[in-house]
Amino acid sequence: MKRKIILFSTILLFFNFFLFANDEYISVQEASSQLGANLFWDPMTKSGILEKDGNSLAFALNQEIAISNFKDFSVTNAPYMKDDIVYIHKDLLEKAKELFSKPLLDTNFKIGAILIDPGHGGKDPGTIGTITKNGKKTSLNEKDIVLNVALELNNLLKSKYPDKKIMMTRSTDVFLTLEQRVDIANSVKLAENEAIVYVSIHANSAFDKKAKGFETWYLSPGYRRNILKESDVDAEILPILNSMLEEEFTTESILIAKFIDDGLKKQVGDLTKSRGLKEEEWFVVRNANMPSVLVEVGFVSNPEEALLLSDRNYLRKIALGIYNGVSSFVTHFEHSRGFTISQ
Ligand SMILES: [Zn+2]
Repeated sequence: MKRKIILFSTILLFFNFFLFANDEYISVQEASSQLGANLFWDPMTKSGILEKDGNSLAFALNQEIAISNFKDFSVTNAPYMKDDIVYIHKDLLEKAKELFSKPLLDTNFKIGAILIDPGHGGKDPGTIGTITKNGKKTSLNEKDIVLNVALELNNLLKSKYPDKKIMMTRSTDVFLTLEQRVDIANSVKLAENEAIVYVSIHANSAFDKKAKGFETWYLSPGYRRNILKESDVDAEILPILNSMLEEEFTTESILIAKFIDDGLKKQVGDLTKSRGLKEEEWFVVRNANMPSVLVEVGFVSNPEEALLLSDRNYLRKIALGIYNGVSSFVTHFEHSRGFTISQ
């Protein structure tokens, strides 16, 4: 069975030389907008995912294999890249259309808990900025900014989701070690079909006083793992299959980060800027299936942004932006399949 895949691939590779010249390819951006799907592209592994309502189709550059919902392999004409644009063959687009037309049956997944983690606290002020108000200089601590945002976010989520556990690692000015934060995340009791979302809140600083804006980091597990073993598939295609499958485990985190970034842009996009999505390895996440984000709400080292961050109304907007992002994610998650369970 696996041998056949390789054989087909070789034949298709041959045909691709002819197809490149034809009108058979479409840019993946164009495809995603036609499909109304989310597009994820990882330049590191040169692979991507088209995702809609929990259905996903994974593909990789120059590979004649596509993976539906992280489990079914099929043969396709290989995507290619030209002038930094990724093109997929129309057969892949058709595959996506067909896949996305079938709703997923298992919609039993729920977000059981949301854990809000304001960084620092107590003897650890985090980063410190200075603001000048009415000619008077005062200092501005990260630990206070993030606690304000977190309390606001906590209230918003509690009133929207009375049936979910909405928790904070700290709700006062106390010091917590990273281990204590991990313990809190790990001690949350969940039913089997429930997931927990982890939202960490921090503020930034930089030597460059002009640096400003918010950043949303999606946190991936701090280790790489091989999902398929050599005995499962042909050794030649093993690495690419693994890199495609691995993306599944960060997809949900990327999604929540994207929703939060969108939410913040709507609330404070006219006052500051989005510095985009970033990826970080993080060990607070207790397993790969815990969607986890860290929001850097702004730079206390930038005098203008520090002034904004000292303003309760501005912090309320930040909290509202994060809240809208988290709620969009909850809706997405609970109306799609939730996570795929790795077998
Ligand atoms: Zn921090």
